[in-house]
Amino acid sequence: MEKISKIMPILSRVFFLILLVNTLLFSGFNSLQKATVKKGELNLFFSKSFDIHNVRHFILSKPHREVYDFKHTQLAHKKVPLGLGKYVRMAQYKKDIVRVVITATKGYKPLVYQPMLSAKEYHISLPKGSVAKSIHKRSKHKPKKKVKPYNPHKYEPIVIDAGHGGHDTGAIGSGKREKDLVLQVAKRLERQLKKRGYPVYMTRKSDRFLKLPQRTKIADKKKAVAFISIHANSVPRSKRNKVQGIETFFLQNTRDAKSQRIAARENKAVLKGTTKLSKNVIIDSVLTGPKIVESNKLAIDVQRHMMHQLRTKYRGVKDSGVRHAPFWVLVGASRPSILVEVGYISHPSERKRLFTPTYQELLAKGIADGVDSYLRNRKKEIDLQ
Ligand SMILES: [Zn+2]
Repeated sequence: MEKISKIMPILSRVFFLILLVNTLLFSGFNSLQKATVKKGELNLFFSKSFDIHNVRHFILSKPHREVYDFKHTQLAHKKVPLGLGKYVRMAQYKKDIVRVVITATKGYKPLVYQPMLSAKEYHISLPKGSVAKSIHKRSKHKPKKKVKPYNPHKYEPIVIDAGHGGHDTGAIGSGKREKDLVLQVAKRLERQLKKRGYPVYMTRKSDRFLKLPQRTKIADKKKAVAFISIHANSVPRSKRNKVQGIETFFLQNTRDAKSQRIAARENKAVLKGTTKLSKNVIIDSVLTGPKIVESNKLAIDVQRHMMHQLRTKYRGVKDSGVRHAPFWVLVGASRPSILVEVGYISHPSERKRLFTPTYQELLAKGIADGVDSYLRNRKKEIDLQ
């Protein structure tokens, strides 16, 4: 009995806490029910009236965005679109936070208010361009001003890493060297991405050797949205006629024997002098990082678009899919990172294609398409980390 009387007050406190948490978590939620754009304003409609102190406003730069976080709020997903026009994006940023992001234009200062009669509404004025449609019609006959083309990728730097280089030749097939091939493809990819407006950085532009940390460091320094390492595969002579295909890897430890074999070959030059302990420390820190999901998505898009481009002109290109493996060039990259094995330099006919300009160009186009597609989808999800 004595024991129970001691426990009871504790139990009741625990119950009270559970109740409190439940109330906060479930009944406390407001819901964003509707969002419209009218007369240059974004109008948000909530299920309950809400306290203006539950709105956090802040600004993100490059590009300039005005962000509104609505706390204790959930998005009524079926009713509210994730994007409205070209300026507004919305997302369930956290379990209890709805995030509204407005892309700003020059001189934009949002005007925010709750209509006097309804504390369930929230109005934010939008940048001028959002009402441009009607204005545009009226000014149809005025001479057109020259406007700088809109460049959506201006703030999305991409780092391309041509594998190997210098004394590290990479794989060799019938005298042809991996280090030369991947530099050719990397340069084509650089041109493709620049054409689309991305700032592009190359880890190497000539035949020189770079240590591993130098490669990924560039990606971190440039705050790259993607790090793409380009390699070519090979198998021993006895299998050279049998094994071919294109595959894209993202970094993850794996027990899959084939992935491990490929990783071991690519890692060879890099791992000289690294102790097993320090290897494990580095790999652990990366494997738990959130970039794995992003890297996986990037890998899927790149692989898909490469295959699509190549198959417009070539028959029998083998799709070996997306895999994960512990590639050291990707360890230490805190950015979404992939490693593309563009084909087997050991395979006679695949090697021939790999050194053909048309084939290389399609590879580069495919990778660039994949990057485009990945970033487009990412924008929809509003990744603002
Ligand atoms: Zn390689």
